[in-house]
Amino acid sequence: MLDVAVIGGGLCALALAHSLQARRLDWALFEARERLGGRVLTVASPRGLPVDLGPTWYWPATQPSITRLVAELGLASIEQPDDGQVLLLDDPNREPRLVAFDPHSAALAEDGTPPRPGALHGGARRLAGGMGALVAAFERRLEAHRLHLGHALESVADLGTHVELELRRGDELHRVQARRVVLALPPRVAASTVYFEPALDAQVRHALQDTPTWMAAAAKAALSTGRATWREAGHTGNAWSTHSQAVLAEVFDASPEQPSAAGAALAGFVALDADQRRHFERGLPMLVESQVAMLFGPEAAQGEVQLHDWAREPWTCAPADRAEDAGGGHPAYGDARLQAPQWGGRLWFAGSETARVGGGYLEGALVAAARVRRQLDEAARQP
Ligand SMILES: Cc1cc2nc3c(=O)[nH]c(=O)nc-3n(C[C@H](O)[C@H](O)[C@H](O)COP(=O)(O)OP(=O)(O)OC[C@H]3O[C@@H](n4cnc5c(N)ncnc54)[C@H](O)[C@@H]3O)c2cc1C
Repeated sequence: MLDVAVIGGGLCALALAHSLQARRLDWALFEARERLGGRVLTVASPRGLPVDLGPTWYWPATQPSITRLVAELGLASIEQPDDGQVLLLDDPNREPRLVAFDPHSAALAEDGTPPRPGALHGGARRLAGGMGALVAAFERRLEAHRLHLGHALESVADLGTHVELELRRGDELHRVQARRVVLALPPRVAASTVYFEPALDAQVRHALQDTPTWMAAAAKAALSTGRATWREAGHTGNAWSTHSQAVLAEVFDASPEQPSAAGAALAGFVALDADQRRHFERGLPMLVESQVAMLFGPEAAQGEVQLHDWAREPWTCAPADRAEDAGGGHPAYGDARLQAPQWGGRLWFAGSETARVGGGYLEGALVAAARVRRQLDEAARQP
């Protein structure tokens, strides 16, 4: 029987598994997808440039856990180009114009306020090889035979002294027994994909269902090119399109720090909602190119578009996330009901959305992993 079964293969689960391995516990990780990383998704452009279609940034000034981890893993990072100005396209029939970003109102200052470098992205950094470098670093450190891809948790039963899990791998159902299980999943995905026996307390069930998954209904696009022509023209690559026909809401530079044989890229968040994206699916790459051309000229749009629609991923986006498609503000995370032990300490919830600090972000995934690790340590010390 396992000491701890970790469900999920995102950053939270990987960080937790790493600390369980350091404690020499008998652990195993079960991930529904055929890859690790969860919402972290770095793909290679046709020229070989790593492009993030999931998370891109971390913020060293306010996020100590991810900043420490990047340093511990020895990963190189890149400052997000940010001169405090944004190329604003608010009318599709007019040329975009450069405006200063006002850090006090988190909006554009159109009254001639001078730009403040670093204000737009708040000192955000990227990883040189994309965020996937984090996942690869954990994968190298974790014992491979304990990582089980393509295993989706379907049910978990409390047997009093331990739990029994049912995991689906294709047509087969695998039974696994563990003293404790940690669900390092978006809470809503846990609520919609896992059957609990006995049923969870109603308060806990509501907390799972009421916690939105950050960015779950978003889609990201990257356009990779041979050269960063916008840089040559003196632009950072930061642009906002706010008119009603915009395809990309926010655009930013996703290139390496220095010119490279793998080329350059711009990336952005798709402005269309999940239904519109499905409707315009075939034309989306062309629409992305045409918007980049409007912003930075036709040369910047000569390249390959890569898109990822998270709303179509059931292991990230629960039906309630898709229905809300909230966008906008960052929800408050860290519901105390999701941090409490269940079934006498045999069942725990983790994942970024359970973190009080940094919830929804990569930082929150690490904060949640550290919290569960402490709780498991305490539980192990109990007689
Ligand atoms: C487009 C986008 C942009 C983002 N940008 C940023 C950013 O710039 N900076 C930032 O800090 N954060 C950003 N985020 C958020 C960040 O990606 C998440 O906070 C973080 O990756 C969450 O990690 P996690 O391990 O908690 O969850 P996840 O990465 O969601 O991992 C959960 C894992 O559980 C698996 N799983 C689900 N159900 C089951 C099941 N029943 N059985 C087995 N496995 C299951 C999933 O496949 C997944 O691998 C972004 C997210 C998206 C989608």
